[in-house]
Parts: sequence; C-alpha cells; structure tokens
Amino acid sequence: MAKNCQSPTEIETGKIVGGFAHNQVMALADKVVDAVKSGAIKKFVVMAGCDGRQKGRSYYTEFAENLPKDTVILTAGCAKYRYNKLNLGDIGGIPRILDAGQCNDCYSLAVIALKLKEVFELDDINELPIVYNIAWYEQKAVAVLLALLHLGVKNIHLGPTLPAFLSPTVVNVLVENFGIGGITNVEDDIRKMIG
Ligand code: SF4
Repeated sequence: MAKNCQSPTEIETGKIVGGFAHNQVMALADKVVDAVKSGAIKKFVVMAGCDGRQKGRSYYTEFAENLPKDTVILTAGCAKYRYNKLNLGDIGGIPRILDAGQCNDCYSLAVIALKLKEVFELDDINELPIVYNIAWYEQKAVAVLLALLHLGVKNIHLGPTLPAFLSPTVVNVLVENFGIGGITNVEDDIRKMIG
C-alpha cells in the first residue's frame, strides 16, 4: 500500500532553533543568572508535555503568544509544536523558547531547575522563578509529572483536562499536598501564573 501511495509533499519550510538540553543551557548559566538578577527575565515557564488533536490545545499557542516579553519558555516533548514556530524573539541573546528536545529530555529541564536552585542558593525548588503549565496526553507525561512531584515541585498546572483515570481521592491528595491545578483560559491563567 505504501508503495502505491503518493510521496508526501512538503507543506512548510523554515528553521527552528533547538538543542537547549541542560549542558547547553548551563553553558549559558552566567548569562541566564545575570538576566534573572537584572530582572530582564522575570519568569521561566515550563510548557513541556504532549500534544494532541483536540482543538482546545490551541490554548497553548495562545498562552505562549500572550506571555509577557520578560518570560522564557522551557519546553520538551510534543507540546512545543503548538508554539515553537512563533517568533517570540530573545532576551539579551537568550531565545524565549528554550527547547530541550523530546519528552524524555524533561530530565534536562529538571536538571536546569536544580542547577538554578544551587546557583541561587535556595533551600526550596519552589522559590525559583519557574512556573509549570504542563500539557499531558499519555502515560509518559504522567511519569514526568510524578518525577516533578518527587522533586517537591508544587502548584503545577496540568491540562488541557485532568486525567480521567485519577480518582477523586487521588486528585484530592494532589491538590492538597502539591497544589496541582487545571487550566482555565489564557488571560486568567497568565495572570495567576505570572502575576
Ligand atoms: S509522551 Fe508521547 S505525546 Fe507525550 S511528549 Fe512524549 S512522544 Fe509526545
């Protein structure tokens, strides 16, 4: 059947910048730390996770588009396809979308967070200027979420909907102990997460 099909035709052209796994970001550590200290970067927004076909996932494109100009997106996984072609520019040479790679590279995002915690000499990972707006679709994203919870990360936003397989009891534990929340609309969520 494949042999009988027409070859695919290219539907778009262009370049996107990637390769910001932890080694690369840490090579820029001084620049990143200076940008945070000077206030040039106000917040990092982890927008990692999955993508899916639901129309409602355009939320993530709009969310990225409407983030204040002093924020930097940290991403890994398919979620990035919702916004990695947007021209969000850079902050003093640091691209506003730092793409670590595929979903397994969420490891890199965790390493970056832990390194920043060390550099800023913080006791609690939640004191970092990092917020989390994670898109999930399949089980691997749930494993990543569990890893973040293990690291003590709180107030993660999970969308576009909460997994149906989470029983009300489990949701209560996640909300009460980890402050996990869903998403609502772009405007309110940006106000809530970025301030
Ligand atoms: S778990 Fe699957 S859908 Fe989600 S980011 Fe990874 S490859 Fe993409």
